[in-house]
Formats: sequence, C-alpha cells, structure tokens
Amino acid sequence: MNPLTHVLAGWAAANLAPLDRRGRAAVTLAGVIPDMDGLGLIAEELTKDSVRPLTWWSDYHHVVSHNLAFGLLVAAACAWSAKARRGAVAALAFLSFHVHVLCDIAGAGGPDGEHWPIPYLWPFTSRVMLEWRGQWLINAWQNVVITALLLCVVFYIAWRRGYSPLEMVSSRADAALVGAVRGRFPVGGQPRD
Ligand SMILES: [Zn+2]
Repeated sequence: MNPLTHVLAGWAAANLAPLDRRGRAAVTLAGVIPDMDGLGLIAEELTKDSVRPLTWWSDYHHVVSHNLAFGLLVAAACAWSAKARRGAVAALAFLSFHVHVLCDIAGAGGPDGEHWPIPYLWPFTSRVMLEWRGQWLINAWQNVVITALLLCVVFYIAWRRGYSPLEMVSSRADAALVGAVRGRFPVGGQPRD
C-alpha cells in the first residue's frame, strides 16, 4: 500500500493505548519501517542500463524487512527507545508492523499480476510464503477507501485528544490542524489530553 496509508494505520495503532508522544511516534514508525527494503529501488533504477544491473528491489522488497524476525526486532527497538509504558509500546509496535504486512498482503498487487508473496519466516526459511489470491491492486478503490477511513480516525483523534500525526514533524503544524478541526467542530472547552 501507499506509504501514507501505512503511516495513518500505524498512527491508529499507536492510539489504541494511552502512550506519550515518543511512544506514539515509535509505534507509527513501526508501521512504515517494513518498506525500508523497498529502498533498493533507487540502486536498481540507477544501474538498470549498466553492465551489471543491481536487482535489490526485485530480490529483496517484501523480503528483508517484512518478516516475523524483523517485526520482533522492531518491537524490541521501539520498547528500548520508549521512556514510558515499554510493554505497551512493544506490543503496539508489533501490531503496527503486522498491520503493515497484512495491508501489503491484501492490497499491494502489481499491475502485472505480481502478488508479492511474503516469506514470513525469512531468513530461516523461504518455504512459508504469505499471499492472498483475492489481493487487490495497489491503486485500487479499496485502498482509497481505507485511506479515507484512516483520515477520519486521524481527525477524530485530533478533535478528541488534541494531537495528530503532524506532532512527529512540527508542533506548530500539529496545533494548527487541531485548531482547525476544533474550530469546525467545537468541543466545548474540552481539555487537551
Ligand atoms: Zn510493505
């Protein structure tokens, strides 16, 4: 799925428990980090016309960082980076990571019919491949609907709790968004969580 959808889904997972700002950022990041194995696309594009083209994207995307071992590593790293509620941060990071994997299995089909099966137990074995025949294309309407629903969740949390994913980038932008949402739908002096 689109990286934006993964960010929003990670953010939704991060708000399933009352975490602090740092914990929310870690859990959100856990929902995006699997796609770091897609960065090989840059090397693949740059070398495609060379004598020895690199195939890092074709070979490693949905492999290196889309598996159980990496998910455990991510959960441990998130717990380590957290200042509070480390158990909850680890559990939600593990969940966020798997929501990403699930989203890819459901809706990341390539236009050429590629299903991108996920070797979930890599690097120990590549025999267990996760794939779903009903998978829709990455640009299908289902992904648009899911993204729109997740945006509704973001706006609701901004209205209700007083923060949004923008807090990870800029406090000012975050406050502006919350102000805009609350200006449109007044909350009657509800305190910021
Ligand atoms: Zn992915």
